[in-house]
Amino acid sequence: MARKLAAGNWKMNGLSADLAEIRTLLQAPAPGCGVLVCPAATLVAAMAEACAGSFVAVGGQDCHAAAKGAHTGDVSAPMLADAGASHVILGHSERRADHGEDDALVKAKAEAALAAGLLPVICVGETEAERDAGETLAVVEAQLAGSLPETAGLVIAYEPVWAIGTGRTPTLEQIAEVHDAMRATLAARFGAAAEDIPLLYGGSVKPGNAAEIFAVSNVDGALVGGASLKAADFGAIITAL
Ligand code: PGA
Repeated sequence: MARKLAAGNWKMNGLSADLAEIRTLLQAPAPGCGVLVCPAATLVAAMAEACAGSFVAVGGQDCHAAAKGAHTGDVSAPMLADAGASHVILGHSERRADHGEDDALVKAKAEAALAAGLLPVICVGETEAERDAGETLAVVEAQLAGSLPETAGLVIAYEPVWAIGTGRTPTLEQIAEVHDAMRATLAARFGAAAEDIPLLYGGSVKPGNAAEIFAVSNVDGALVGGASLKAADFGAIITAL
C-alpha cells in the first residue's frame, strides 16, 4: 500500500512573510499521512529550516537535468537537496506548456533528481481537447511511458490540465478510471513495487471536495495548488486524507 501524501504546490506564489502559513500548519498535531510543501526555489531553504524535524517535508517545483554548469536562471537537483528539499515536482503541465518540456526532458530531470537523493513527483494529465477526443488514457499512458525513470521510487500526480486552477474537477468515476489504469500500467512495468507508488490527484482540490476524492480507488492523496497557500485550507485537506 502506498503511503498517503498531501502535497502543496505554491507555484510562483509566496514571499518570506508567507512562511507564517507553514508555522500555523505546524501547530496542528502530526497527521497519519505524509505532508509535502513545494515553494518557489527562493523559499526552499527557509521553509526547510522552519520545517526541520516536523511532519512537513519540503520540495522544489522543478530542477535542471544537469547537476551544475552554465545554465543561467536554473536550479539543479543537488542545489535543492542542499537547501533541504527531499522532493521535487517535475513535468507539471505549467512547465510542459510554459517551457516546452517534453517527456524525455522530464525523465532526464527525474534521473537527476534521483541521483541527488530527491523523490520526484511526476505530473501527467490530459488537456480538455484530449479528453473531449476520448484520448485521456492514451495521453496519460504515453506520458507515463516517456517521463518515468527506471525505478518505482517516485510519486505520480494525475492532473487534468483543464482542472488546474479552474474550480472544475473530473467526476469521481473519471478519476477512478485514470488512477486504476495508471496502477495497472505501473504494475506491468514495476511489478509488486507499483503498489507502493503514491498516486496523487491534482486539480482544484479544496476542503469541500477532498474527502470524496480521497475515497476514490487508487487515489493516495493530492497535489494541491491554490488551496495549499492557506494553512486553514491545506490543513483541512490533510485532515480529510
Ligand atoms: P490547483 O492546482 O489546486 O490550484 O488547481 C493544482 C496544481 O497545479 O498542482
